[in-house]
Amino acid sequence: MAQKKDDQTKLDSSRITDLLPGYNCGICGYARCDEFTGALIKKWTQLEKCRFLLQEIFEENREELEELLIEEKIIPEEEKIIGLLDGYEADIRLDPLPDEKSCREVLFPFTRAELKEGDTIKYRPLGCPIIHFAKILSSENGLITVHIIGPCHRLDQDAEFEYLDIGLCMVGGFEGIVQGKVPDVGETVRFLPGHCMMQKVHSGVVVQVEGRRIIIEGIDLKVWAPPIKG
Ligand code: SF4
Repeated sequence: MAQKKDDQTKLDSSRITDLLPGYNCGICGYARCDEFTGALIKKWTQLEKCRFLLQEIFEENREELEELLIEEKIIPEEEKIIGLLDGYEADIRLDPLPDEKSCREVLFPFTRAELKEGDTIKYRPLGCPIIHFAKILSSENGLITVHIIGPCHRLDQDAEFEYLDIGLCMVGGFEGIVQGKVPDVGETVRFLPGHCMMQKVHSGVVVQVEGRRIIIEGIDLKVWAPPIKG
């Protein structure tokens, strides 16, 4: 019986390895794909650590891997994604890109101050009551792409923490990794940004999909659907 169980484990691990890109590049932190498989089975790592699985060419492999890992109870079955603030159900959750702390946000600042890469800004998104702190990743044609770093993280900083207060900003877009079914380009989605401090469901239109990496624009905090909770 024990032998049968071992055979079964070997079979499952080779099925997983067969579905990995097979580059043995070490980018995931493991020297070879079969070592990554071993770490996946032990729940020491996550599929997202293999960046190639985010590419369109490996989309089917990724879907099959997810099914297999759910079947083997290595990752949990998808649960409903519900916004805490108003109880709306989201189609997807948007998580950060690998090695990043929050989803990327594209902002339209109304300030005339010069904003450049590396600056920390304080702002309030139009339609959101929460003050945000963010680090600018790039600045181009009047738009800035940022990472959210507060207020929670900001409160951990010392009194020397420096930032530019740019007041109100319009949020134009989000970029991140989809948790849930990958939407099509052009689809209007309700999504929950993983870092949202209010855990409020947003809506927008998907303008780019590459594997599980997507860009959503036309962001709106109004969601046209009845809340799940009574
Ligand atoms: S990053 Fe992907 S392709 Fe590279 S070794 Fe890890 S599992 Fe294999």
